[in-house]
Amino acid sequence: MKSQADEHERTMAFAEIALGQIRALRQSAAPRNYEIWYTYATGYNPSLNQVVNEALSRTGSLTQNDVDQIYDNHIASTRLTDRIDSVGSQFMDEIEQVMAMIDAAVGNASSYSESLANVSQRLGGAVDRDGLRTIVESLVQTAQEMEQSNKKLDAHLSASKQEINQLQQNLEAVRTESLTDPLTSLANRKYFDMALDKAIADAVTKGEPMSLMLTDIDHFKNFNDTFGHLTGDQVLRLVALSVKQNVKGQDLAARYGGEEFAVVLPDTVLRSAITVAEHIRRAVMTKELMKRSTGEHLGRVTVSIGLASMRPGDTAQTLIERADKCLYAAKRNGRNRVICEADPEVADQTQTQVA
Ligand code: GH3
Ligand code: MG
Ligand code: MG
Repeated sequence: MKSQADEHERTMAFAEIALGQIRALRQSAAPRNYEIWYTYATGYNPSLNQVVNEALSRTGSLTQNDVDQIYDNHIASTRLTDRIDSVGSQFMDEIEQVMAMIDAAVGNASSYSESLANVSQRLGGAVDRDGLRTIVESLVQTAQEMEQSNKKLDAHLSASKQEINQLQQNLEAVRTESLTDPLTSLANRKYFDMALDKAIADAVTKGEPMSLMLTDIDHFKNFNDTFGHLTGDQVLRLVALSVKQNVKGQDLAARYGGEEFAVVLPDTVLRSAITVAEHIRRAVMTKELMKRSTGEHLGRVTVSIGLASMRPGDTAQTLIERADKCLYAAKRNGRNRVICEADPEVADQTQTQVA
């Protein structure tokens, strides 16, 4: 185990590197900035180091915009597990307190019924007027004590209820975040996997069609190499927006991988899915990209799209594989196009009818 002194030395070394960078670049030493440079110095977050290096090699510095984006994409998102742990342990504490209250209430109730049994036993014997008064007084006192302890319990329980309501909201927020891609705000891969399984099961139960769309940005590596990863990230957001704006209702748009997006289209036949895909493809290719900070024109990007519709016996994997084959057929055939299973480019792999 590392000693406290070692830990001090190690973290001071990182802190000095972080402050050195901030000084050299004449940046603000505010916590966000400091945290980025401290994390950079540790090297524990390679993707953060990569984007920082790229920004530095391009402009020699980090703009406030760069700092905000790096923080959101590479630091804030990693806090999720800590927050899940914290909400979880607060829930456990609250449950323990409620259990203790229940134990106390059970104890009170049984001592109350013991007192009543005792009274009834005393009433069974010969009692004179004074004796009766004593018994009634003790009954009244026990009832008052019981009432007071019930009131206390009520107050504790309603405080606990409020606390639990708040925790439920926190849990819901954390859960939503754990299923969201931080860069694009679309559903993440985990959410997509769950949604696809559910859509397949629902389609089977309801006897409805269901389609799957896979979208991949064309030559995106070139784009990143030319304009840098941070600008690439902005384009990813823009493509995600084009996907999101062209799907609706129960459709689920997700970031499937680096520069790949997937859309689950319940109750949708292949022909309708083609229409949606064409809208997305056109929305992306018609956007003239411009770097906000410099006004530099970046040209346009295009996407290739593969579509498959569910067949009897399909699993998530078989459906994804077929959509992926269509996507690669779209790439092979020149990119910036939509290819579905019914197209001749993939005809040898499919017998699906276009509805
Ligand atoms: P193709 O048309 O065949 O799809 O070519 P491509 O260059 O898009 O495909 P390739 O798979 O060779 O490269 C994908 C690139 O996508 C690699 C990487 O630069 C970029 N990329 C993946 N994830 C991210 C990301 O989160 N941010 C940015 N900026 N770029 C990413
Ligand atoms: Mg790809
Ligand atoms: Mg690509």
